Amino acid sequence: MEVAKHIPLALKYRPMTFDDVVGQAHVVRTLRNAISSGRVANAYLFIGPRGIGKTTLSRIFAKALNCQSPNGVEPCGECDNCREIAAGNSIDVTELDAASHNKVEDVKPIIDAVEFKPTSSKYKIFIIDECHMLTNAAWNALLKPREEPPPYVRFIFATTEGDKVLATIVSRCQRFDLRRIQTNDIVARLKYIAEKEAIEIEDDALLAIARGAEGGMRDALSSLDQLISFKGGKITEEDALGVFGLISRAALERLAGAILKGDTAGILAAIEEFDSAGKNMRRLSGELLQYFRNLVVLQALGPKSKSLTVTEEQLAPMVEQIRGLDAGRIFKVCDQLAEMEDKLRYVLSVRTLIEMSLIRASRLATTATVEELMMALKALRCGEVAPPPRAAGGESGAGGVRALPAEGVDANSAAGESGAAVSPRVFTRQELLDDPKLNSLLAIFPGAIIVDVKGDQR
Ligand SMILES: [Zn+2]
Repeated sequence: MEVAKHIPLALKYRPMTFDDVVGQAHVVRTLRNAISSGRVANAYLFIGPRGIGKTTLSRIFAKALNCQSPNGVEPCGECDNCREIAAGNSIDVTELDAASHNKVEDVKPIIDAVEFKPTSSKYKIFIIDECHMLTNAAWNALLKPREEPPPYVRFIFATTEGDKVLATIVSRCQRFDLRRIQTNDIVARLKYIAEKEAIEIEDDALLAIARGAEGGMRDALSSLDQLISFKGGKITEEDALGVFGLISRAALERLAGAILKGDTAGILAAIEEFDSAGKNMRRLSGELLQYFRNLVVLQALGPKSKSLTVTEEQLAPMVEQIRGLDAGRIFKVCDQLAEMEDKLRYVLSVRTLIEMSLIRASRLATTATVEELMMALKALRCGEVAPPPRAAGGESGAGGVRALPAEGVDANSAAGESGAAVSPRVFTRQELLDDPKLNSLLAIFPGAIIVDVKGDQR
């Protein structure tokens, strides 16, 4: 009986052309231009975290350079050269994994091969992966031919640790920094593949996989592989969350909402729930920070911004959360979360630190910012009604400041109009202007009403 051979998704759906490459548009554009303009550098250096496509891009570039019948600048994928490069057995394209082959004798074959012209291709190409692992002696041996390399030789270096590559080498290469792939790009690719594979998978499950992969396409695809072999053709968000110990999108939204509303009980209940469900608490911290970072971007640049790392589904509740919220408050929460992330590295009682940090963050989120007070004051000076600063969810908020018309206003009727159950304390405008300390009181007295009383301008 013949058993169908399982091909990992990462291999089966490995990008074959520049068009297929996900999330590295800046690099792809430059490489394409280099080919179309005939200005191909002698050496390229691709730097970036693992699993984001450095080797794949190197191979596509090698194919594009040596393809016998290119489609514009795209490799055809059909000719002998393209096929041999894809299969890793082209005579003119040599790959070396410096992670395991980093000594002089390992690079010796390359040095020898440089001397011979390519047999059936335009270029002789050497792809050296994890090049930061090469010993100094190996680099020296490699560099010797590179001082005056034959015109048909091209080097493509790739590394996860750009800092460890000698400056003299970096300066001889055209350097590209590859990015972590954005969550929504990963989701789109996973969705495409799931459809091709006839896998029924929830959108939130795709999102969970993308979040778990932290910008690495290869990790995302192997997680999908793992889930398929584990669950078959039907995958839910719950399945995907289980693999990474992540919390659900809805739960993350609720927790963020509780922080913005200053809902201490809600925060503590959420943490209790995550902890007892065995969720990864350190991951939670990173995810929350990412969530609030997106809120900042959303508020500053709007929902169409390319800097947002969220999917369409995530966006709507986030827009709702920041409605009418001062940017300064979200910033303060981000600061607090970043500090928590930092402390998490050496603290033992993770849960306690997270609880305390999130409660502090929620306090910061519900305290009026200096900017809000300044706005309120400015409005007072102009005799306008200042919009009340509010916390998200907006029940009581941090308290509004009202300025009433100067002429003939009776303080008592103003107090009555506010409709507050407790009779508010009344300050005169002059008192407020005279005493800077009183300004800060505005944040503490939510019901304070500022009144201009006739004859008050002494
Ligand atoms: Zn070809």
